[in-house]
Amino acid sequence: MNLQELFTDGRQRLSFEIFPPKRDGSIESVFDTVEQLAELSPAFISVTYGANGSGARGNTVKIADAIKNKFGMLPVAHLTCINHDREEIDLILDNLSERGVENVLALRGDRNPEVEPKTDFSHASDLVAHIKKRGGFFISGACYPETHPEARDAVADVLNLKKKVDAGAGHLISQLFFDNSSFYSFVERCRIAGINVPIEAGIMPVTNAGQIKRMVTLCGASLPAKFSRIISRYGDDPEALEDAGIAYATDQIVDLLTNGVQGIHLYTMNKPELAKKIVRSVEKLFRK
Ligand code: FAD
Repeated sequence: MNLQELFTDGRQRLSFEIFPPKRDGSIESVFDTVEQLAELSPAFISVTYGANGSGARGNTVKIADAIKNKFGMLPVAHLTCINHDREEIDLILDNLSERGVENVLALRGDRNPEVEPKTDFSHASDLVAHIKKRGGFFISGACYPETHPEARDAVADVLNLKKKVDAGAGHLISQLFFDNSSFYSFVERCRIAGINVPIEAGIMPVTNAGQIKRMVTLCGASLPAKFSRIISRYGDDPEALEDAGIAYATDQIVDLLTNGVQGIHLYTMNKPELAKKIVRSVEKLFRK
């Protein structure tokens, strides 16, 4: 099955993102995470890919393989192109194909000032076009409710996103955001621009203060006053902040589902317990 079929019947879908083990982590611990996430019956699980040359890149393929062939779920393998040439990309696609992984989230990847980018692919849309031409994969892409930090403005970013969709991306997953109104106006901009593919809302439960600072610096997500008040009140109390972060994410999801979002993509941070707490309290709200 590929992702396209998932969004044809009007059901609201739940999906998860996980990442390969960090340098000293074990791949078995990630398998344990996948096994626990399976209890929540996600539509698919996506696996991130290190853009900047962490030795763990091969693990994305191994984990996607296990999601499909060991745990019987639908995997989506992230793939970044900024530091790869065409030949290297084709090798990874071959590896995925051999394992029956048919869904790829095609990304450019973040620029790293210390690594000279390769030149075969300038934008994710170039990678999408390449995979489309090759065939055999359903392609997803990333999108940015609050505009990608490098984009000139929101309109330019949506027009660039349209190029990615026109090149062959049939499904989009959004960057995390904490203010649902930014997601709603983004979806409206997309529809006006003629982007008609399913758009899943990326939700990250924030459970520690360091993570919040990192996220805001990395992806420029704005913090609504309600969210900032949570941080200033509970920032020094990890247990309380975790409770508040779960409640906040849950509240976002309820509002998104009520407003007819096509899918919720939960950034699990490889914490299945967290995902369980959130999903168990909203699972009946998904339109069947
Ligand atoms: P693009 O779509 O290429 O966009 C990047 C910038 O270029 C934007 O400003 C856009 O407006 C502009 N642009 C795009 N196309 C054109 C064009 N044709 N002409 C001119 N300008 C253009 N990073 C990882 O390293 N590994 C991961 O696994 C990973 N997973 C992610 C998953 C999701 C859901 C999201 C939202 C992000 C993820 N990222 C990941 C981060 C991502 O790599 C960065 O945000 C990166 O800076 C942009 O990648 P992109 O694919 O969106 O790039």
